Amino acid sequence: MNRPRLADFRRIVVKIGSSLLIDAAAGRVKEAWLASLVEDIARLHGENRQLIVVSSGAIALGRSLLKLPRGALKLEDSQAAAAVGQIALARTWSEALGAHGISAGQILLTLGDTEERRRYLNARATIGKLLEWRAIPVINENDTVATTEIRYGDNDRLAARVATMMSADLVVLLSDVDGLYDAPPSEGRSANLVPLVRRVTPEIEAMAGSAGSELSRGGMQTKIEAAKIATTAGTHLVIASGKVEHPLRAIAEGARCTWFLTPANPVTARKKWIAGSLEPKGTLTIDAGAVAALRRGKSLLPAGVIRVDGTFARGDAVVVRGPDGDEIGRGLVAYDAEDAEKIRGKSSSDILTILGFAGRSEMIHRDDLVLARE
Ligand code: GLU
Repeated sequence: MNRPRLADFRRIVVKIGSSLLIDAAAGRVKEAWLASLVEDIARLHGENRQLIVVSSGAIALGRSLLKLPRGALKLEDSQAAAAVGQIALARTWSEALGAHGISAGQILLTLGDTEERRRYLNARATIGKLLEWRAIPVINENDTVATTEIRYGDNDRLAARVATMMSADLVVLLSDVDGLYDAPPSEGRSANLVPLVRRVTPEIEAMAGSAGSELSRGGMQTKIEAAKIATTAGTHLVIASGKVEHPLRAIAEGARCTWFLTPANPVTARKKWIAGSLEPKGTLTIDAGAVAALRRGKSLLPAGVIRVDGTFARGDAVVVRGPDGDEIGRGLVAYDAEDAEKIRGKSSSDILTILGFAGRSEMIHRDDLVLARE
């Protein structure tokens, strides 16, 4: 495949680095630049694409608002600065998107939310709902509570994880560099931009240099890490300059940038993960009607389940078997075993009365289900 076109993608995660958004010297948001970016976002959104924003800038904005001295901040200082900055950041996005009639929904995530299956399902459902409502999720790390052990620390990888969680087909990392160069600037020879990477090899990783060794390529390592996460899960990733106005339009018009291509398709990659890498914790036996519905691409509803075996928690993988015991598929179940037992055979509209809370109407959503013959 050659260089893809922005128009080819349906669900796009756009990550914006702090230095693009915040004018550190003046201590404020670069409003004109943001307005140009949001215009691009609104255009893509208007073309019926789904956009997810991952925005840095809470710490940078907080430190300006609090007039903290320059230089590195201690962890607790940056967490407190983020507490102040995040409010301002959220308002900035809400106003900028609101100017185009688009609602922004703030989501603050920590590592556990994307790595732990139960929380993962919740975060995914919330972001999915915002997209369904045509709002734009604006995501940042929850810097104020994330401890060193559970921090991403950088929004490049956070953006890639969000993209894989949401089966996005593209991540755009807007940065202060326009892509990956084939040699560190310190080597003194002129370096060339690499326009297309088909596979992240050790040679490609070496081009990123060592972390923090040179200011000018600071952060390239985490971008390569992000590219690995994204492309393994079926998501393309592009690193492009955000230093121009209308940075997304610039990519669409062929600006210099580095594309990392994935050989896979995001939905297929996710399904592979469900089918292959998860150990099933239980079995749902379903009736013939449900087998037929699943084969027509429907979700599994509680009404079709005739038997629940095993000890599983919401979000665990389970095997789905037909009435005669044949494996029909595997999926991530939306209820704990105990609750699944209570609602099996029942109509989804009775879930609230039976369980006392309004859970999902599906026992396994079709996006979380892989059929044995797929
Ligand atoms: N979450 C941090 C912030 O909003 C930014 C992390 C990063 O720049 O990668 O300030």
